[in-house]
Formats: sequence, C-alpha cells, structure tokens
Amino acid sequence: MLFRLAPNTPRFKVFRLLNAELLHFLEQSVNTDTFCRTLLTQDDIGKACWGNGPTREKYRGLFNSMQAAGNDTKLQLFEVMRDNQSLQLLFVAPQRNLFDFMSEACFTALKTLCTHLYCSTKGLDAVIAAGGSDIKVHFNAYRAQAVNGNICKACGMGKLAPFRAEVPDGEQWRADYDHQLCKSKYPIFAVHPDNLIPLCDVCNQDAKKAKDLFKHKNGTERLTFYPYTEEAKSFIDISIDNLRDPEPTIKVDWNTQDPLLLDKLNTWDEVYEIRGRVEGQFRSLEAIIEDELRPRDSTHLVSRISDEARPHVIDTLKRKEWAFWHQKLFSQMQQIGEPDIEAFWEKLEFTQNQAQNGADFILNG
Ligand SMILES: [Zn+2]
Repeated sequence: MLFRLAPNTPRFKVFRLLNAELLHFLEQSVNTDTFCRTLLTQDDIGKACWGNGPTREKYRGLFNSMQAAGNDTKLQLFEVMRDNQSLQLLFVAPQRNLFDFMSEACFTALKTLCTHLYCSTKGLDAVIAAGGSDIKVHFNAYRAQAVNGNICKACGMGKLAPFRAEVPDGEQWRADYDHQLCKSKYPIFAVHPDNLIPLCDVCNQDAKKAKDLFKHKNGTERLTFYPYTEEAKSFIDISIDNLRDPEPTIKVDWNTQDPLLLDKLNTWDEVYEIRGRVEGQFRSLEAIIEDELRPRDSTHLVSRISDEARPHVIDTLKRKEWAFWHQKLFSQMQQIGEPDIEAFWEKLEFTQNQAQNGADFILNG
C-alpha cells in the first residue's frame, strides 16, 4: 500500500460472521461422520447458510471431499484456518504452502465453497439481516473522509468510486473489494474481514488480479506490506534526468537500503505496477507542466513549482487522485534549481512557438 489504512477502518460484519461460521463448520467436521445441521451454528448466520440451498450444497461438497480424504485432512484444515486467523502475524511470517496436505479434489471443494460464500452468500437477505447491513453500507463507512477517504490506498492514483449528487448512500457506486490474499490460492481467507480491501479498478482488475503477495510468479518467496500498519509513502523518491535534453526522464526510486523494506517495496511495485503507471503518466514533463502549473513565464513557473512542492494535508491525499505523486515530482523539480528550470522553460517556449507557427501556417495557408 502507498498509504496504510486508517486505524478506525471498519470491518464488515457479514464477513466476520461468514468467516466465523466457516471456522465453526471445520471444527465440527473433525468429529462428525455425516453431513448434518449441527455442523453449522444455531445463530442467525448458521440458519441463513443452512437455509440457502446453493450455500448448503457447497458446504456439503467440502464435507464429502474431506470425509473421503480421511480424518487427518479434516483436522489439519481446521487447524490451518484456526491458527492463521491473525493476518498481521501471517504477513510477518507467511505460510506459503498451507494446503499442500490436501488432495486436489478437496482443495477444489474448499475453493468452491469459499468463492461462493464471497460471491453469493454475502448478498443473501438473511445473511445481510444477520450482519445488520449490506456491503454498500460498509463501503460508505470505509471511504468516509474521516476514515480512509475516496482515494485508492494501494496507488494514490485513482478514486475508489465517483460520488453522484442527490443519490442516497445505499445507491452510490462502490469499488470492488480486493482479496489481498487471493481466494484461488488462499481460499480460507475469502471472507476474512481483514483480507478484503476496496481498491481502484486499475489496481484490482488490471494490475493485481490473482497475483500472490507472498510468492513471485517465478516461485521466489517475497514479503509484502501489511495494509493496516505498513506503507510505502516514506520510501519513495522521484528523479528527473536530463532536464536539458529534449525528453527528460522521470523515474520512481526507493530511498532505502533496508533489504526487508526493499523486498516489500518491490512486491508492492510488481503487484500494482506502480513504477510503470507513474512513469507512464509522467512520460511528458512538458505536458504535466502545462496541465498542472500553467506557467506564464519562467518566474511564474519557478513560483508555481514552489507552490506545488509543498506537502499536502492528509485530507487532500484522501480526496485527490495523483496528489501525492505530483507533489513528489514538483518537490524534486524545486531541488533542481532555477538555472535548469529556466533553461527548461526556454526550451518549452521554443517548442510552443514552433507549434504555434506551424498551426498559423496551416490555418493561413
Ligand atoms: Zn489503485
């Protein structure tokens, strides 16, 4: 995460209940030989899960697979889920092969159930009634300005979802929730309340998808920031090379040598494609200066850079996309010094004049 989540981030009660119900089911399964009602709780959430045919059948599917695999599988699966309920501890010491003891059939049945709990069960009327509110209520509480705000915590580049005037909270659009530990590889966290975080579409759907936070695609082990307590924002530098060249290059760098932090920064970058997205957005310094600073002359440019180099208040970072990254860029430009900025301005003006002359030539024939 670029920004860690606010300490008052609410957890969605429906996820908490569904997660506890799954754990209860696995515990009860250890000493039960037939699929029956007592595997689920007598609470409203247990009644809602049992009372919904498709959900009950997914529970039955997992039970039958575990039953076929034997008592060891039941006990181990229960222990794995019970012993890894603290995601904070898991992020410190990742367990990357939690399900190696399971047969493929059993693991598939587990994934089917857990995916169903997330995709379908969470939206059932009886489940929402048990939790007291639906996911939109949670989303609105999550992105309140006094909590996390409407900017994606992973990248700082996108809004979670636009606000529409005169639309009630319950009907506002919402962002999708990202499974930090993806449900295809870590199904037991599919409805864990700490594992689900609303992110912008680009982070969730384009960049991250089902990437494994604990393992690079080449199989190398890696660590990752725990979103509730850790963040990247203090370890980022922007560098501008060759300001006097026709095309200055803007790069995102890490300003730490700490191997643990570097490992987490590289994971964050690979998962959300941070550097590529920032350097892509910043591919034309001229365009950014025109769009963001609108300078009249070189003195104005220097003063505009110094305005925009001032750090933002936290409320702005929670409201305005790209605010963090632009401030970093202008703060770097400020350090470059006036002679280089003035030289850059001359080049900019020259290019603009040429473009204007070209346009006049076309218009006037
Ligand atoms: Zn994002």
